[in-house]
Amino acid sequence: MNLFSGLEKFGLKADEEMNLFEDESKKGSVAGGVTKEAEIPTEETFLLPKAVRCAVCDKVFKRKMVKNGRVKREEPDMDLRPRHQYIDTLKYNITSCPFCGYTALNNYFEHLPAGQVKLVQEKICANFKPEPQKEEDEIKPYDYDTAVAMHKLSLFTAIAKKAKTSEKAYNCLVISWLLRAQKESLSDDTEENKAKKEACAKEEEAFYKQAYDGFLKAVATEMFPMCGMDQSTVDYLLACMASHFKQYDVASKCIANVLTSVSANRKIKDKALAMKEEIVAVIHKEKGN
Ligand SMILES: [Zn+2]
Repeated sequence: MNLFSGLEKFGLKADEEMNLFEDESKKGSVAGGVTKEAEIPTEETFLLPKAVRCAVCDKVFKRKMVKNGRVKREEPDMDLRPRHQYIDTLKYNITSCPFCGYTALNNYFEHLPAGQVKLVQEKICANFKPEPQKEEDEIKPYDYDTAVAMHKLSLFTAIAKKAKTSEKAYNCLVISWLLRAQKESLSDDTEENKAKKEACAKEEEAFYKQAYDGFLKAVATEMFPMCGMDQSTVDYLLACMASHFKQYDVASKCIANVLTSVSANRKIKDKALAMKEEIVAVIHKEKGN
């Protein structure tokens, strides 16, 4: 018996075997799996628009801000590149005025001495061509190309405003971290991706070297804290970079600074100790060969 006969006039046709109380458990488990998949929050859900007044042109615009209370930290890379679940917060560590082009890392954006305002006006705003205002969602996530480009604009602005060495070095470090993240986000399945990954790696290396040289110079000329980091954090970071560039004498000196520091916490000392062991092993291996 077809319980649904008569529905034909509505254009609906149920077949005889349509089971009213078909066991949903099988389907349910499939649906459950899908639901679970769908539960992974999108990057949008971690963002909110925040009104900012430009320190140079005085106009108000909205930047994308990460809801800090919502993000969950994950273990950072060896060189302290932060990682968060579901979102790369590094992409949003930047504020860029869409009207005049003034761009800086968030912590540096709002407080700009008059002398630097003048430099930005002369060297950035005078030449800046605003992009046609896109009617885009205020919390639409940045892709890596956009985030990297904005951080490069920030570095360019830092040079124009004669920023401290540490600010420029940190800016270079963030760019290299973003390029590393972009590289990781790409799959190997197309020639285009492979080429893009290679380009990211090359650029990452170049910015990492700039960051390393910059921080070496900064520790010799500036006071701590530096870019929000205390001395042992910067020493540890320098040790990582020095080790990457096989400058083991510099790395060892920086590690010793961390290990003998009275203010360094246990966590950073443990990390420094682990790195020391790694370096000793590498040197040992190189001598053996
Ligand atoms: Zn502006």
